Amino acid sequence: MKNNKIIIAIDGHSSCGKSTFAKAIAARLGYIFIDTGAMYRAVTLYALEHGAIKSCITDEDMIESMLDDININFRFNPERGASDIYVNGEMVEGKIRTIEVSNCVSAVSSIGAVRRKLVAMQQQMGRNGGVVMDGRDIGTVVFPDAELKIYMTADAMVRAERRYKELTAKGDKVSLEEIYENVVSRDKADMTRAISPLRKADDAIVLDNSHMSVEEQMEWFDREFNRVMES
Ligand code: C5P
Repeated sequence: MKNNKIIIAIDGHSSCGKSTFAKAIAARLGYIFIDTGAMYRAVTLYALEHGAIKSCITDEDMIESMLDDININFRFNPERGASDIYVNGEMVEGKIRTIEVSNCVSAVSSIGAVRRKLVAMQQQMGRNGGVVMDGRDIGTVVFPDAELKIYMTADAMVRAERRYKELTAKGDKVSLEEIYENVVSRDKADMTRAISPLRKADDAIVLDNSHMSVEEQMEWFDREFNRVMES
């Protein structure tokens, strides 16, 4: 039986609702939610805005030399019930979710120096437990000893349709095909990169939410969480 606040690691494919799920869990348990994808997106945005990515070609040396100038932090936003991400004091939640950033982020996240900086920050943020962290390498690299590891996935077209609805509701001009291609190519890039590729940790449990409602996913989570806490 566990009495302490544990680390919950959630990894998985692009756009399968990891952050929504992680946020809901964190709210339910009174844990801190950390969206590590937002951190890779923030570095990508900075690189785009400072000329280190042109036509989606990344200048790795330039990005590496910029890293010390990129100060990332999170501040809790009570209206959203989650933290907003800031880069050098500017709130960039909206700017990091565009298709332009999505198209370039996998190239940036494959750079070793970028990963070393962000992984160190993530380990620092989660060191006292009581966190729900979502990403691609949380259960394998950032917190390989996390007490509960979840590997999320869903059918690629279902994921593209969900993301399409989200972006068009915000007024973004995107096509479903473009989003589907981004989802599939990001999965491929994230799973085949040399450093910390996306893979299921051996002790992670799989959640395929292609045909599950949010409520069903929460019921599934409650069962798994109770099992871990009682062990
Ligand atoms: O989770 P999200 O889709 O916002 O992540 C954006 C990108 O950041 C991923 O496609 C991946 O390339 C990278 N990422 C990563 N490791 C993490 C989280 C995200 O490489 N822990």
